Amino acid sequence: MGYCFLGQAAHYSRHERLAHTFAVGRKKDAKNLTEYLEKRYSGTAILTKNGRSALCLALKNLLPKGSEVIANGFTCYAVYEAVKTAGMTPVFADINKEDLNFTIESIKKVLTKNTKAIIIQNTLGNPVNIVAIEKFAKDNGLMIIEDLAHCAGLKYADGREAGTVGAATVLSFGKDKSIDTISGGALIVRTPVETPIAAPSKAPKFADTFRTRFYPLIAGISRGLQHIKLGGPWLKLMLKLHFIERSADNKLDLTRRPNRFAAKLALKQLQSTSKMPLRKFALVNNRAELLNKLKKQGFYFDGFWYERPISPERYYKKVKFDESACPVATEVAASIINIPTHYSSEKLQPAIKLIKEYIR
Ligand SMILES: *Cc1c(COP(=O)(O)O)cnc(C)c1O
Repeated sequence: MGYCFLGQAAHYSRHERLAHTFAVGRKKDAKNLTEYLEKRYSGTAILTKNGRSALCLALKNLLPKGSEVIANGFTCYAVYEAVKTAGMTPVFADINKEDLNFTIESIKKVLTKNTKAIIIQNTLGNPVNIVAIEKFAKDNGLMIIEDLAHCAGLKYADGREAGTVGAATVLSFGKDKSIDTISGGALIVRTPVETPIAAPSKAPKFADTFRTRFYPLIAGISRGLQHIKLGGPWLKLMLKLHFIERSADNKLDLTRRPNRFAAKLALKQLQSTSKMPLRKFALVNNRAELLNKLKKQGFYFDGFWYERPISPERYYKKVKFDESACPVATEVAASIINIPTHYSSEKLQPAIKLIKEYIR
């Protein structure tokens, strides 16, 4: 039986897995990536430990403390953490079921005098209505920050590239993101600032470097062990030994730069054509049962985005999310399933057939 995985670095080809594990990075590689980002997104680029650090750095330097920042009401804990750590209040706007993005109507509902910025996410690589949002932001004095974790390389309907519209552009190079080097991030500031933002310069921690380097290999072994039902226990052991970590647990740190070998690989990915959407999705009934049936046929589709309006489950309580303010996001989180885009439709055929039986 052929197995299919949504996560576990399944989109890495054998060649990419080896290239990642043995990649060598130099100072020059970080410089090359920085210069490339500055050209592509027309601004001043800074490399960061991860996406949330980039987002936090943007907010801290561009907005007054205590600002309210509007984010998509269907997102990950990293966004919440970045806004909080910057000393600001995250406010979540509800989404629509078609593209999983907030709308002008839902933004209006949560807008206050203190709202200073809006983070555009283009969920799973589905573009927002950029023209309408840009006009709304302008009319209401809101700064636009574009978060490209899901959508590096995406073109908006009017032909502009995501990341070339707002005052700041944030990239994540984390696991399963549209640019994936297991960890890393970048900020491009596209607006004048009084004092230049200093780039984080401390070297990554050894443990983080280890996890960044070996994740594709460790995850590959786990997928291989699935044939004898040992993939799960293997991953659990790796987690216990801290050889791998869950994406949401990656620490926000404004002082550390990413790995240079990751910068080199990120540049390579940025230079090749992007795959959009990042993941396809469907809204289904009885998701737990469906995931179980899929697993029996060899389709490991857990680890989808998102199981909660602010994911993952482990952090959801901490966020104190107001579900009544975002009913659509709450409903979508309870019924969404993601379908990977890195397998042929032929290979996914049995899964699609099964999912269709459960579509709402
Ligand atoms: C993952 C993610 C981030 C941040 O990513 P990290 O590199 O893990 O900090 C930001 N925004 C969105 C929408 C994400 O999915």
